[in-house]
Amino acid sequence: MLAAAVLAALAASGCGAASSSAASGRDGGGASAAATATPGSSGAGGAVSPTPAASGSSAAAPALRVVFVDVGQGDAAALRSGAWSGLVDGGPQGSEAAVGAALAKLGVRRLDMLVISHFHADHTGGLPALVKRYRPRRAWVVGKAKGALASALRRAGTVVKQARRGLTARFGKAKATVIAPGGLSGDANTDSIVLLLQAGGRRLVLTGDSTGAGEATAGASLARGPPVDVLKVAHHGSRSSTTSTFTAGARPRFTVISVGAGNSYGHPTDEVVLRLRKAGARVYSTQKNGSVSLTVSSRGTLRWSFTHSSRPLTRGVR
Ligand SMILES: [Zn+2]
Repeated sequence: MLAAAVLAALAASGCGAASSSAASGRDGGGASAAATATPGSSGAGGAVSPTPAASGSSAAAPALRVVFVDVGQGDAAALRSGAWSGLVDGGPQGSEAAVGAALAKLGVRRLDMLVISHFHADHTGGLPALVKRYRPRRAWVVGKAKGALASALRRAGTVVKQARRGLTARFGKAKATVIAPGGLSGDANTDSIVLLLQAGGRRLVLTGDSTGAGEATAGASLARGPPVDVLKVAHHGSRSSTTSTFTAGARPRFTVISVGAGNSYGHPTDEVVLRLRKAGARVYSTQKNGSVSLTVSSRGTLRWSFTHSSRPLTRGVR
């Protein structure tokens, strides 16, 4: 953990305004976007109650650590809060090593929770091997796992739950709430699980490939709360997601697009990157920045580090 903090500090000092403003949080003052996201102003801080598992950690221990893993064209995010660990999606087939390395970096040996945003191969291909290795205790899904993934979950003894809006779980020093889907449309992307994570008074949102009615439901829910500090952009930056209505509701400060270089879909689109930037968000992508790591301190300070460049994206693929 110490090594990771040093790494983050080095990354912050080595890449100019981008990371130093991100790292300043509420401690550093100044006019950075992060500093204006006042943790706890809406009672979000009150929702964060350390569980007994985290009671041994000091105030300096992070509230949440996230690695948006560079899995090429797909999604995978590894989470750690106190003694608790989680994984949101497992990338395409062949992602096992990259996701495993991220989980190892977070000191994870067994997963407490697996969230599968939806059953598309770019989110689930790596999961059979990861489930076998990390035996998640619980999983949240929409729909039914099939084939190798279904049998891996069965063999791991994972308790699988259908996720709908309003489902919550407290973990470590954080809280997870499903904000979409409300109902089901039958389209896997539309029905993606959208997860709101609250930790250290910050709000992080992971969207899967949410679009249409599902994204609208999530956007309306986010519009009722404080701005989103970190948004994992839906559907790899496809123009069919991240509508201006959603962006207006979410008001994201930092965003991460999980996307592969040279993908055949033209992700991320210029349109979405520009829309996010126009809304005042900083845009990172696994394509340019590599794996993107974020530490949220218990006081709400955000620290970023990257395996490649630390430069934010200014435009899409064209
Ligand atoms: Zn996808």
